Order: sequence, then structure tokens, then C-alpha cells
Amino acid sequence: MPAQSTAFQCKLCPTKGTDQEIRGVGTRMAAYRVCSSCDFWLTCLGYAMLGDQDPDGRRALRIDGVHYLSWTEEQGFPPEIGYVGNTEHRYILLTDPAGTVHVTHRLWLMGTIPEKLRTRMPDNAVFAPPA
Ligand SMILES: [Zn+2]
Repeated sequence: MPAQSTAFQCKLCPTKGTDQEIRGVGTRMAAYRVCSSCDFWLTCLGYAMLGDQDPDGRRALRIDGVHYLSWTEEQGFPPEIGYVGNTEHRYILLTDPAGTVHVTHRLWLMGTIPEKLRTRMPDNAVFAPPA
């Protein structure tokens, strides 16, 4: 690894990116010329384009413009996950005409979707009231 990193202008926002390794994706960021934040949200946009699932089948939820990722015991934690609480979350998918309430303790809060991506990443779920 070179001691010095190369900075470049992000193609998608005013932030500068570097080819320094950030969560193992520095090389990709440099190739795409995007900063870490835009790289993160492009991944989330990818989930939306792939049917609201990540490549391992974990479900992407967008509720009130906030992005979450849910998973099952079998699927396991997303590899890049941080802290997750043990609160019970109840949600309904907007595409489900039956309005089935899903209950999970495994929900990763990933952050508020940037304004410029909102139209391409519309809400796909709502939180259900407590039982
Ligand atoms: Zn950027």
C-alpha cells in the first residue's frame, strides 16, 4: 500500500474522495471517482434496483426516507454492520396488498437517504403500530 493516498473530486457531490481503503472499497471508489458517502448510497440504490434486496437476499426497507436493512437468522449479519439494538420492529411492505405485518429484531439503520436520490429510492414500507 502506498503511504500517501490520492484525493479526487467526487463525480456526484462536492466532496473529495480518496483511494485510501475505507471498509475495503477504496479501490472501487477511486475507479468510479465517487466519495465514500456516494459509494455507500450507490450500493443502497443497487438494492432498490435489484428488487429491494442485497446480494445475499437481505431485505432493504425505506421508511419515511430512511434506509434500513433487515435479515433473517439464516442469512446472518450483513458483513459491514455496526451496532444493532434488540428492539422489536414491525413493518408492512407497501407492495403487499394483504398488508402482512412483518416482525423483526434484526434491523440495521443505515441512514437518511440523500435528497437527490429520493425519487429513485422511494419508500417501500411503513412501520406498523405495536400489537
Ligand atoms: Zn460524493
